Amino acid sequence: MSEYPYQHPGGCECGAVQFLYHCQQPLAEITARVCKCLYCQPRAASYLSDTMSALHVQVKDLRYLYAHRFGTNTADFMYCAVCNMQVFVRSEVEGRVYALVSARALKEFAQLQNFATMDFDGESLPERLSRRSQGWIPELQMHCDAAG
Ligand SMILES: [Zn+2]
Repeated sequence: MSEYPYQHPGGCECGAVQFLYHCQQPLAEITARVCKCLYCQPRAASYLSDTMSALHVQVKDLRYLYAHRFGTNTADFMYCAVCNMQVFVRSEVEGRVYALVSARALKEFAQLQNFATMDFDGESLPERLSRRSQGWIPELQMHCDAAG
């Protein structure tokens, strides 16, 4: 039996970047966090994460992924280079990689019922990094179809 009872598939619109979000709950029981920062708000972005979850990302080729950095420059917002859809976020804290799922990239986005608005303005950088290491997905695996 898997450590994670639920696997939520997702990816970008064109399918070049796909993922499986392994977690403990059905989407209807998960609260997505809506970020109010200058970067996320215009994009209507919301995110999922849980300290007891894992994100497995599959890309056809690493060229299909590109990263945007913004604000404190400590998080990579990962996009598909073909269709420009934001798929996930990664951040490195003390040598360990943490991730968030972009809610809109979930195939079953419509099943999400709970959204909470977060405001992290005024947070110091150490506070921000420690929040990530205590709330984000602690396991990000990347698989690439094109070997080499
Ligand atoms: Zn795409």
